[in-house]
Amino acid sequence: MLTISPIPAFSDNYIWHLERDGQHWVVDPGEAKPVFDALGDAPLDGILITHHHLDHTGGIAKLRERYDCPVYGPGSIDGVTDPLSSGDRCEILGLPLRVMDVPGHTLDHLALVLEESGENGASQQHLFCGDTLFAAGCGRLFEGTPAQMYSSLSKLSTLPPETLVYCAHEYTVANLQFAEAAEPGNAAIKNRIAESKALRAKNLPTLPSTIGEELATNPFLRCHIPAVARRAANHGANGAIEDSDEVGVFARLRRWKDDF
Ligand SMILES: [Zn+2]
Repeated sequence: MLTISPIPAFSDNYIWHLERDGQHWVVDPGEAKPVFDALGDAPLDGILITHHHLDHTGGIAKLRERYDCPVYGPGSIDGVTDPLSSGDRCEILGLPLRVMDVPGHTLDHLALVLEESGENGASQQHLFCGDTLFAAGCGRLFEGTPAQMYSSLSKLSTLPPETLVYCAHEYTVANLQFAEAAEPGNAAIKNRIAESKALRAKNLPTLPSTIGEELATNPFLRCHIPAVARRAANHGANGAIEDSDEVGVFARLRRWKDDF
């Protein structure tokens, strides 16, 4: 059986810890100490990396020093032993893993989808999307263009709605406050704000989310909704520019969120 749990790191990062049949992998270890603490005496069997930012990679060297385990991720990152690129398929923890490129937040950003087969032939997909898709939000555009990021998010949004989404930061409540500003009439956003605040009040993670939940409440996946497009257009410079295309709506939303 596969279990996936968050290891909190820094102020709001999650290092996802995957365990199956006594094997352990972690995703995006920005620091090593919380991973050492979570593993105890168990060895680490491997590391997955989504992109080059230090809060996702800073723990690689120390973890490799202790465990000498493989590191799968973008080939340009120091410490990666097994470079991955778009379309690759491999196996970790005895389960198939596939790789999608999702440039935008950074140009090297990968999304990793782990597939677990259920007993009756149904499969559950687990998406590790780093800083590309967040609960009710998306990553900042540090390296890519709005068109690249929008295309990356659109790819992720075609995964089955029940796909579990493991984002790398606990940004959900702040993101939902922006989502509500972008689409005030959306009742699903209001409900999600109440649920997320209740979880955070108990110091529990709001993640994983699902693709279905994101499609219903994440403004960056809702650029095709006329009400969202109107709010984005009205907010921007002089409020006068009509954005009929979804990339234009996305770009306006992302700029608005940068200053929110
Ligand atoms: Zn990042």
